[in-house]
Amino acid sequence: MIIGRVLENEKKVKFDVDITCTNCGKKVPGGLQTGESYYKTQEFERELADFKEKYLCGICRDKNRRN
Ligand SMILES: [Zn+2]
Repeated sequence: MIIGRVLENEKKVKFDVDITCTNCGKKVPGGLQTGESYYKTQEFERELADFKEKYLCGICRDKNRRN
């Protein structure tokens, strides 16, 4: 999964975080990628925190769509 910003022709940084579905609590293997220049910036930290706060696993996302 890619979050944040990746510039054209920019190298991506791969990193692992624990992501937990905010609905069912299922842990998801958090292999994420972002652009090298974006990684570890304040915006990056904010976006990552936001991402984790709102994360839904595939199953819960599907349920949401159907309801
Ligand atoms: Zn879920």
